[in-house]
Amino acid sequence: MSDTTTVYTARWQRAQAVMERLGLGLLLIGPGADLFYLLGTPGHASPRLVLFALPRQGRPTLLVPELEAPGFLAWQAALDLLTWRDGEEPLQVLRRVVAPVSIRAAAVGDRLWSVFLLRLQETYRGATWSAAGAVLRELRMIKDGHELAIMREASRRTDEVWQQFCQQPVAGLTERQAAQRLTDLLAERAMPPSFPAIVGAAEHGASPHHTGSDRPIRPGDALVCDFGGILDGYCSDITRTVVIGEPSDEFRRVYELVQRAQEAAFQAIRPGVTAESVDAAARSVIEAGGYGPRFIHRTGHGIGIDIHEEPYLVAGNRLRLQPGMVFSDEPGIYLTDRFGVRIEDLVVVTEQGAERLNAVSRALTVMA
Ligand code: ZN
Ligand code: ZN
Ligand code: ZN
Repeated sequence: MSDTTTVYTARWQRAQAVMERLGLGLLLIGPGADLFYLLGTPGHASPRLVLFALPRQGRPTLLVPELEAPGFLAWQAALDLLTWRDGEEPLQVLRRVVAPVSIRAAAVGDRLWSVFLLRLQETYRGATWSAAGAVLRELRMIKDGHELAIMREASRRTDEVWQQFCQQPVAGLTERQAAQRLTDLLAERAMPPSFPAIVGAAEHGASPHHTGSDRPIRPGDALVCDFGGILDGYCSDITRTVVIGEPSDEFRRVYELVQRAQEAAFQAIRPGVTAESVDAAARSVIEAGGYGPRFIHRTGHGIGIDIHEEPYLVAGNRLRLQPGMVFSDEPGIYLTDRFGVRIEDLVVVTEQGAERLNAVSRALTVMA
């Protein structure tokens, strides 16, 4: 078995331990992020069923259409590769290996197509069904060494993109052109965008998910730039807000407040504290500064294979942080029709506290 195989077999074992605890007999995962986590490939979602079936004990079975089997041959040493041919009913093929009598409690991938779930329920009558998110969420929230190495490198390249972006004037470009510049700089580092880059000038920056327009960037504008790329299946995500030319007093004040809130959240992160307490740490700074109602979103989101995944740093989330969790720390203040400020870094929870994955300056930056 190769080193990479070991990474995935360790994840299967962790999944089996969670299944044991939850009393699950079988985990059934179709194409998508969960399959990527368990197999290093997202597979191909189509009317031809691809299914990874992990029993509570023993080797998993991978059911694939015969025409897609060549892509999975490398797995034969670690799992039972089962192929089905056009014209065959794939679940009848699976039934020969995974007998219905053995399955009482099955968990099925949150994003498996319902047509497949309905056929599974037909094939495995008598089983109870639940969402596999209960298992995968727990695993995917805590990044292993393999994932952390990729995410560190993804953030390092993303930082480089930002540094390079800051070296050229943007006044005169449209928001869309500036966003394209970020996307191109990511592409130069072999990273496709993890979401369409956000560049919001002045009043557009007051809308957190504004995706760009043909509005030209002008002197005096605050510019919210939020972007990220994908490296080996893992997302990066960063936001910096700059000002074109001399900032107003209010911009300075708001910027400084967001910067302090972002730092307060960072300082609050350590194993054992709740996710909501980190949100509260950022929010209390902004509230004390008088802009509480203008901080209109949660403080952060988990990130990994998906750009938004658990844990969410939001009021009401009592989940306790654990080493290996990676999420964004991104408070913001949004003044309708005027400007917005958001500062975002990715953070990993460590044994002692937290570590930022992004190292580029958060100080107020003036661009031309
Ligand atoms: Zn967002
Ligand atoms: Zn972002
Ligand atoms: Zn984010």
